[in-house]
Amino acid sequence: MTTKKIETDVVFVGGGSAGLSGAVRARELGLRAMILEKLGSCGGDAMIAAGYWVAAETQFQKDQGIEDSKDALYRYFMDISSYKARPDLIRVLVDRSASNLEWMQKQGLVIGKEVQTFGTTTVPRVHQNEGMGAQFVKTMKGRAEELGVEILLKTGAKKLIVENGSVAGVSAETEGGDELEVRAKGVVLCTGGYGRNKKMVSEHQPIKKHAMVSAGWAHGDGIQMAKEAGAEIADLNTCVGYKGDMPGTAGLSMRSFFLLMFSNYPIVNKLGERFMDESIWVPYFANALSNQPDSIGFVVIDDAMRTGNPFSDLSKEIESGKIKKADTFNDLATQARLPADKFVATIEQYNDFAKAGNDKEFGKPAALLAPLATPPFYAIEIIPLILNTAGGPIIDKNARVLTPDGTPIPGLYAAGNNTAGFYDSYPSTGTGLQISSIFGQVAAEQIK
Ligand SMILES: Cc1cc2nc3c(=O)[nH]c(=O)nc-3n(C[C@H](O)[C@H](O)[C@H](O)COP(=O)(O)OP(=O)(O)OC[C@H]3O[C@@H](n4cnc5c(N)ncnc54)[C@H](O)[C@@H]3O)c2cc1C
Repeated sequence: MTTKKIETDVVFVGGGSAGLSGAVRARELGLRAMILEKLGSCGGDAMIAAGYWVAAETQFQKDQGIEDSKDALYRYFMDISSYKARPDLIRVLVDRSASNLEWMQKQGLVIGKEVQTFGTTTVPRVHQNEGMGAQFVKTMKGRAEELGVEILLKTGAKKLIVENGSVAGVSAETEGGDELEVRAKGVVLCTGGYGRNKKMVSEHQPIKKHAMVSAGWAHGDGIQMAKEAGAEIADLNTCVGYKGDMPGTAGLSMRSFFLLMFSNYPIVNKLGERFMDESIWVPYFANALSNQPDSIGFVVIDDAMRTGNPFSDLSKEIESGKIKKADTFNDLATQARLPADKFVATIEQYNDFAKAGNDKEFGKPAALLAPLATPPFYAIEIIPLILNTAGGPIIDKNARVLTPDGTPIPGLYAAGNNTAGFYDSYPSTGTGLQISSIFGQVAAEQIK
């Protein structure tokens, strides 16, 4: 094994949303910048993201007469976190949210004109870039290469180099098993969440039974490295709970994303009872489902819903028996091993609510109520879904990693899903990309 030594100004550990955005910004500022990426390609979770960005006071909002303010978004983020979020971080996030969209447009990303509403607010704030997360990654990686960022793929960072209490660089392992020592004025940990680290997930995640989407090399490497360097670690019990998915589904498919997540079909638990307005905000849905017996629910649809949904080809799962199918509610209950009397009564009551346009039990909006009327009927078993985890080192508004007494560790920065302090329950679609992209850039701006 040989050791190769390299020197640069700033090294980003991880080439996802935070690493790519930070490296582009660093080059704009004239710094030498490098990305170490453990996998054979850049992107991490950003690659599979939907490309939504929450932002206030954007030109898109103004063009459509949408009244909004950074202060209102600040207040929303703080309220929805029950003030567990750190005000200094949220202030930076909201203040830079609109200008970050403009910055990305300058890099070549196209943002769609439509502004949507997500979360528990009624203010349309969520923008979407064309081509979703994959296009964001392609654009930023292309810009990084154009500007001369050195991107080392299949190079996983292992350990921070700490000298006299300061971080002087990072050591990594290359594809061939050689050691690489990168010395830099700043090391920025951008390794994403820890959703693929079974031990950390079982220790920290409150939703015990779940399907996990998180891609990339989400093993919490950055969190571990920061801890070893003396950082205070917090919020490892946070995640992006996002409705539910079929157990055993390997990652999230676009089909289940739209079929299960945005369609708001009725759902019963193992007792055959509904337990919520199925359209509630996505992390609340995951919590409510987690509270049911065995954390299991059954989405119930009829054939009109199956054929009317663009992502509804369920033929494989129906054929294999994973999704239950029957011509009557009673038979469907037998197939899904649900108490038939209760299940039939629940669905009949739901149909009455739908016909009357009034969900007397859970208050689901009338526009989202549709009766189950066209046989055959289907029952799709689901468990809570987690998109990715959050939490890690505590950072300040300059992305500097802090020790338990609040002092920055010289030379060490962190951004994105391996940091703490941004939310308790996920506040709005479009938050994760903004946090990571903005704080990757904030870190770059600190390196002198
Ligand atoms: C299905 C899905 C949809 C989503 N949609 C949206 C959306 O529309 N809008 C939104 O705001 N958020 C969305 N998110 C969340 C968003 O993708 C993340 O918040 C964001 O990507 C986090 O950026 P990051 O840079 O922290 O981590 P990532 O983008 O995950 O990047 C981390 C990178 O670090 C690399 N890495 C890990 N360990 C090492 C190591 N030791 N050495 C070197 N490299 C390493 C990984 O391989 C990976 O490439 C979505 C998430 C999922 C799973």
